[in-house]
Amino acid sequence: MEGRETLPWKLLAGFEIGGRPVPLVGLTGIWKPAVCELPISITTSAKGVYPDRFDFESGRLEYRYRGEDPDHRDNRGLRRAREERVPLVYFHAVAKGAYVASWPAFVVDDSRETLTFTIQIDDPAYAFRQPAGDHVLAEDRDEARRAYVTRTVRQRVHQVAFRERVIRAYQERCALCALRHRELLDAAHIVPDRDPEGEPVVTNGIALCKLHHAAFDGFFFTIRPDYVIEVRRSILEEHDGPMLVVGLQQIHTKRILLPRRPADRPDPARLERRYLEFLQAS
Ligand SMILES: [Zn+2]
Repeated sequence: MEGRETLPWKLLAGFEIGGRPVPLVGLTGIWKPAVCELPISITTSAKGVYPDRFDFESGRLEYRYRGEDPDHRDNRGLRRAREERVPLVYFHAVAKGAYVASWPAFVVDDSRETLTFTIQIDDPAYAFRQPAGDHVLAEDRDEARRAYVTRTVRQRVHQVAFRERVIRAYQERCALCALRHRELLDAAHIVPDRDPEGEPVVTNGIALCKLHHAAFDGFFFTIRPDYVIEVRRSILEEHDGPMLVVGLQQIHTKRILLPRRPADRPDPARLERRYLEFLQAS
């Protein structure tokens, strides 16, 4: 799993205990395999942009009850997980069949009025330490730490979702050179997305290979709002080896490969904004 950001469904579909298959995630959000007494995971689906709610300020995750009945057995299971402080795995689906896994996740609150549990994710290095000294102070520290970790997870989910959606929209190839190796592909931002609250919008992204991503960020070339590539004059006039010729000079005036879905195509207004920056930089 080293270096992987998302876990594919087939990996999560399970392992075996006593000859019986035990999937790590269920089709329902709260997952309690038959052989376990308590739920082991909660999953947020990829439907909608963010069906669950991360409260950025408090670093909490609002997780909807299963159905409308607070006493549904899945909801009772999560309530018990809270009472017994049992750690869960939290799976966030960022695209169809791709999950970001976080552990340990704890149920820290439960509201029958709003039919939601509040979840916080913790750092495994600290979550299971015995509190030393003043218990109340230790709980405050736990709360602050978990809030921070939960916010970090939210940002990671955003980044991974952006990457996953952009690369899929471009059918897993570089929009410039059509390179297909996923490990060499990035989701480049057209307008830098520094706002941690910002949603991962596919129209602010382009799938580019590592070389073209770095060259795009460095204004070696730009993509105009009509999707035509414009290479900086100084690069066009340079003399060097074949990488420069094929990788940068020959893409000049070519049109990029676009996503199949028109709704996924780069936003011309953002490309325009970038084009003006390119003119200033070159
Ligand atoms: Zn490329």
